[in-house]
Amino acid sequence: MKKVMCVFGTRPEAIKMSLLVFALKKYSDIETVTCVSGQHRELLTNTLASFGLHPEYNLNIMKEHQDLFDITINILKEIKAVLEKEKPDIVLVHGDTSTAFITSLACFYLRIPVGHVEAGLRTYDLHAPFPEEMNRQGIDIIADYYYAPTEIARQNLISEGKKSDNIIITGNTAIDVLGTTVSDSFTHPILEWAGKDTRLIVLTVHRRENLGGPMREIFEGIRMLAEAYPDVRIVYPMHPNVRAVAQECLGECSQVYLSDPLDVIPFHNIMSRSYFILTDSGGIQEEASFLEKPVLVLRDATERPENLKYGVSKLVGTDKTSLLRESGKLLDDPEAYKAMTGHPHIYGDGHASERIAAHIHDVFYGKE
Ligand code: UDP
Repeated sequence: MKKVMCVFGTRPEAIKMSLLVFALKKYSDIETVTCVSGQHRELLTNTLASFGLHPEYNLNIMKEHQDLFDITINILKEIKAVLEKEKPDIVLVHGDTSTAFITSLACFYLRIPVGHVEAGLRTYDLHAPFPEEMNRQGIDIIADYYYAPTEIARQNLISEGKKSDNIIITGNTAIDVLGTTVSDSFTHPILEWAGKDTRLIVLTVHRRENLGGPMREIFEGIRMLAEAYPDVRIVYPMHPNVRAVAQECLGECSQVYLSDPLDVIPFHNIMSRSYFILTDSGGIQEEASFLEKPVLVLRDATERPENLKYGVSKLVGTDKTSLLRESGKLLDDPEAYKAMTGHPHIYGDGHASERIAAHIHDVFYGKE
């Protein structure tokens, strides 16, 4: 019996890997083992519970005030024993987290093949996003199989000299997930708070490179936006990294709902009922295009150029004037709004997990 091990550690990875784990488990001739690093603790635990996924291993590495050194050292140390015990025939990692990069490095040291889910995304600026761009480039030096979500991602890999036979365009597993989480009958206190005659904007910001000055500038832009548009309501599920500053800058603003991070099902449904989205997240750019919600990206570079190509998102950086100006266009001009919707399948058709699982089966047992 061949064995695949899926390793991940943060909320976005858990969201994008859970359905893949279930797709792999459908094959009776593949043993699927899941190991989480615990790089995020509460966010990860809640997400796993939302999907009913029970990993066989939890490295539980998260510490108060952990930095990149703690994360790196602890994962490398802990994952070794798990890999040596389980001896998987292949390890699957996802995206660009330190968990994914360090696990790939451990696999390299132990000569275990690696499959990279969501391979080939690039900004080609090692500092933006930091450290994720280095992580994903590093994983792709090590990986044996590349599950590229789009043709642009495939092209990046080809231009770096990866063998085209080992690159499989699958779509993004995030789109598979939205097919299971969003429902018309969903209700939530945040939607009740927002009311019916308002326009709801979803805000998420948490990137390391936005911490400090840029974050305060974004929050100031949000305050100005709320003041300029009384019918607007803004929900901000605060990432634990930025809670204190968010409360200081926006706590008094009655049009802004500062919430704890939302579980994936409420978050997806609230996004699907929103008017548009302001975010520095990567994954939310993909999800928003599927939900046909315009996205203003609060960053200077994106590894998701597909959205820019189809015009469904715009890079606005962290400057409050740009944030206000571009939000104003979406709120005031129905044509400008419409131009930023209408391309739900940029990141796939909702069958990425099945494709990846089928490819792994082919790798083990040949094409049927
Ligand atoms: N998300 C969530 N609850 C929230 C905010 C985000 O479930 O309160 C989900 C979101 O739908 C997406 C993922 O978390 O799937 C994005 O995570 P994040 O922005 O932390 O990471 P990135 O995608 O930038 O790596």
